[in-house]
Amino acid sequence: MSFTQFASQMFGVDKSKFKSWLWQMNNQIRDKKSCEKYFKLSPDEQEGFDKLNEIFNFGCSPYYAALIKKVEKESPKRAKSLRSQVLPHIQEAFDNEGVKDPLDEVLHSPVKEVVHLYPDRVAFCVAMLCSVYCRFCYRKRRDDEHIGLHYNRKIIANGVKYIAETPAIKDVLITGGDPFVASDEAIDYLLSQLRAIPHVEIIRFGTRVPVTMPYRITDDLCSVLKKYHPIWLNTHFNCVEELTDDACSSLKLLADAGIPIGNQSVLLKDVNDSYDAMKALCSKLIVNRVRPYYLFYPHLIAGTKHLRVPYKLGLDIIRKLRGKISGYAIPTYVIDTPSGKVPLYHNHILGEDKEDLLLEDLNQEIWREKKALKLS
Ligand SMILES: *Cc1c(COP(=O)(O)O)cnc(C)c1O
Ligand code: SF4
Repeated sequence: MSFTQFASQMFGVDKSKFKSWLWQMNNQIRDKKSCEKYFKLSPDEQEGFDKLNEIFNFGCSPYYAALIKKVEKESPKRAKSLRSQVLPHIQEAFDNEGVKDPLDEVLHSPVKEVVHLYPDRVAFCVAMLCSVYCRFCYRKRRDDEHIGLHYNRKIIANGVKYIAETPAIKDVLITGGDPFVASDEAIDYLLSQLRAIPHVEIIRFGTRVPVTMPYRITDDLCSVLKKYHPIWLNTHFNCVEELTDDACSSLKLLADAGIPIGNQSVLLKDVNDSYDAMKALCSKLIVNRVRPYYLFYPHLIAGTKHLRVPYKLGLDIIRKLRGKISGYAIPTYVIDTPSGKVPLYHNHILGEDKEDLLLEDLNQEIWREKKALKLS
């Protein structure tokens, strides 16, 4: 049975309705009771719902719920990599070491929701809503406003004004929440405002909808985006199970609209914390014209301790990928800090010998690069 057939049956609607993103948003699963209609919750998840809903919203698109269910039928173990990203788990309640705003974004915002950390770039957090609320999200500080599918006008107006008055800003990253959980009109208006600023060179989006609600990527949306090139986009696939046919179709629409697509993953326990899992994900991303961009080591965010792994694991995974898959498929492993993203590399430099540089090559043998220290 095809995924769409399976999914529309699960929700008792016809396929075209299931594939409407507005239907998806209107039917977002938002509480324990509706979740139990579709899933057998473990005691830990049940307790998670009871104790955590006030701390961090639960929300899951019917699409992502159907994906979990479909994968679960084939392999409960693989489904865990999807389930743990969205379902609350009581472990979250036992972790109060983490913080809500790990990057001090509020401190770095000269006007509300414009994070100006690097001289030439800003992250503009225009959106409040998401199609799925990821348990490991580091923007849990997000405002709890209910504004439907529009952006907050005041945030847009003040943010656009700040960007227009700051000529150093060449690159605007539109993020959220999820900026594509908004109407085409809202997106069009925001882009028209930003494009009218002469010093803004590139505009990019950070969105998870290709992963969690791919039906949001429509021909109409692509027509809007295309008007404002150069537009770039980063999405957020964490495991290969998320690259469904529907997700890949949404990526095709974006790529065909001339939008370079990157992917930012978060290294998560039981989701992508192995060489095989990352290899499968990254190889399939490039087939879909998505360039793995960053692999983030997850911060100590309140409630996420049980999803973290030792940082060294990520380092080993990236090191092993080098030489094994296309260079395009290998992301940069980073830890985001309040002063910016810091890359973590395996050190291949063993030392220097007279005029030569000594390297550890990919077979873990010594390579002597002759006269690399100075030109002779
Ligand atoms: C990540 C980030 C950016 C973009 O950084 P790139 O390395 O250029 O992708 C810009 N501003 C903030 C505040 C960020 O966190
Ligand atoms: S889609 Fe992005 S902003 Fe929304 S909850 Fe997930 S990680 Fe956070």
